[in-house]
Amino acid sequence: MRCLLLSDIHSNLEAFQAVLDDAGLVDQVWCLGDVVGYGPDPNACVKLLRSLSPVCVVGNHDWATLGNLDLQDFNPDARDANLWNRKQLTPDNLAYLEALPQVVAEGQFTLTHGSPRHPIWEYIIYTSTARANFDHFATPFCLVGHTHTPGIFRLTPETEEQGSICSQVTLDSGQPVRLGPERLIINPGSVGQPRDGDSRASYAILSFDDMTIEHRRVPYPIEETQAKMMSHDLPLRLVLRLKYGW
Ligand code: ZN
Repeated sequence: MRCLLLSDIHSNLEAFQAVLDDAGLVDQVWCLGDVVGYGPDPNACVKLLRSLSPVCVVGNHDWATLGNLDLQDFNPDARDANLWNRKQLTPDNLAYLEALPQVVAEGQFTLTHGSPRHPIWEYIIYTSTARANFDHFATPFCLVGHTHTPGIFRLTPETEEQGSICSQVTLDSGQPVRLGPERLIINPGSVGQPRDGDSRASYAILSFDDMTIEHRRVPYPIEETQAKMMSHDLPLRLVLRLKYGW
């Protein structure tokens, strides 16, 4: 059983397509939200995602596009891009985003966009935040996006000498990481707008047979996405950052 784990596609069709081509045959697709916002192809990305019948949760940019969040909470570039995305989306695709849940449990995994404690907004960047969030989901593993940075937080069980310790584990591309016995919070990184200094699309493959996760990076034609963004007058800073992976 192979499961494709995606997050933060952000209307970037070229990156999304490159990930699907690279992933090959999978049995399931799980998506951790922010399908739209920032990029130039909101409808094509929602349509392609829907064609994969994914398990998907809603992200803060999806919510903002639906008008469920105050856009004043966004920086001006994100706000402009989000308003443009909102205008493009068909009623059918808006209805799909509207129906997405904030948290889903699938077997041993809890899926959410930001964090299990605050699904829409909280960023799990630091081990202190991760540690607090381990108390907010019941499954062994939690899958999150939102930071656009791939990584794993591991919780070592409590011992007599000391309480449980949360530590960060690097997620090297192409090196499968065994899931368990410790509890984990896992972020596969962003498909459509990576922010860890690597411009390639970021995603992961979960293998339920041997209980591993493999992080992957794949190049995509960034210039094509940038040209589309320029033609739609999307903010220049958002166009440029794709090249730097930031
Ligand atoms: Zn995002």
